[in-house]
Amino acid sequence: MTATQLNDAVFVDVPTHWYNLAAELDEPIPPHLHPGTKELVGPDDLVALFPMGLIAQEVAAEPYIEIPEPVREIYKMWRPSPLLRARKFEEALNTKARIYVKYEGVSPVGSHKTNSAVAQAYYNYVDGVTKLTTETGAGQWGSALAFAGAQFGIDVEVWQVRASYDSKPYRGYLMRTYGATLHPSPSELTASGRAMLAKDPNTTGSLGMAVSEAVEVAAGDPAARYALGSVLNHVVLHQSVIGQEAVEQLAAVEPDGADIVFGCAGGGSNLGGLAFPFLREKIHGRSNPRIIAAEPSACPSITEGEYRYDHGDVAGLTPLLKMHTLGMDFVPDPIHAGGLRYHGMAPALSHTVEQGLVQGVAITQHDAFTAGVQFARAQGIVPAPESTHAIAACAAHVADSDRDEVVVIGLSGHGQLDLPAYAEYLDGKI
Ligand SMILES: *Cc1c(COP(=O)(O)O)cnc(C)c1O
Repeated sequence: MTATQLNDAVFVDVPTHWYNLAAELDEPIPPHLHPGTKELVGPDDLVALFPMGLIAQEVAAEPYIEIPEPVREIYKMWRPSPLLRARKFEEALNTKARIYVKYEGVSPVGSHKTNSAVAQAYYNYVDGVTKLTTETGAGQWGSALAFAGAQFGIDVEVWQVRASYDSKPYRGYLMRTYGATLHPSPSELTASGRAMLAKDPNTTGSLGMAVSEAVEVAAGDPAARYALGSVLNHVVLHQSVIGQEAVEQLAAVEPDGADIVFGCAGGGSNLGGLAFPFLREKIHGRSNPRIIAAEPSACPSITEGEYRYDHGDVAGLTPLLKMHTLGMDFVPDPIHAGGLRYHGMAPALSHTVEQGLVQGVAITQHDAFTAGVQFARAQGIVPAPESTHAIAACAAHVADSDRDEVVVIGLSGHGQLDLPAYAEYLDGKI
């Protein structure tokens, strides 16, 4: 790759392959288990939900997997995303650290989610699927899949967590603009939704509940399949375009690479996507970065969850995943970082935590917004509420520090559709 530096931004070519860290680790990621039999999940168990291309990626053993040309063509609409030196933020923090931001907010919907949505829509399109169902929290994943569905002519039906559906209507408008159908979750449209409403008619919902509804509808419709925006191995794989670009971009300006990398972790996909290529550099002895997973105190799966097999949803329909989990029926407070309200964590990321390659840190919502506002005033970019967790973790680490270190922050998205949440913070209500 060749790098181009433009003022504070560095650009490289879009990667031709996804990077699969698991293939380079001594210990394999624990496999998924069937929810009924507790045996290993085989391809036959997954065909009702996922296309073959993605099922193969879930257990891929090779370190590099070629990105299909149609997916690369769509990536080129906004990739490579910029790596920006955040000089004004450094000044604001009074630090000697050099802070770089890998900014995924330049995608059409404003977050990293499009990196996997486009790939998933493509493999479903190849299999002749005409409808995709999914869940969404704040609406980032739902709008990413709605965009990707529009690219490949696939209908998209989205269950959005009630708390976000009510408080953040704009991404709902975005999904509908791309042609998707939207329901609040839990809904009366599915058996699992009706069961949850019978238990608690006023529930604010959770990602786990919305997953159950979307999975139920896909499993009952032969023309439909389900798409998951995070957690699974193939999703983390698709996000590796972020970290591969970032490693190359950083190399153009910092020959010794990164000392520490911060990302927010909800289901683990943006952090895994950013961090795993940095861990590749570590495994191959080219640099030795620490990786920090910043999660909300309201949903601290890495720092306070157990590492065990658990379902990805509330109804217990998904395979059992070995992960850090707060329990499948954990319902977090309705914090604004809707994308971080998930009870579990990607098995791939959980595994690297267990291997000592990634450390978790829990951030309060107040500290997250404080850092988000400080960053916005310094750099102009309003970060997604999820991303503010990574910024807060970075700020706590480098503030007033004389250490001459190279820091990378994963800025998973922008927060221009989350301004009501910022307003609440500014009004002193958080
Ligand atoms: C969905 C989302 C997250 C959390 O999901 P991960 O799988 O942990 O990346 C973080 N940031 C943004 C902007 C999101 O949309």
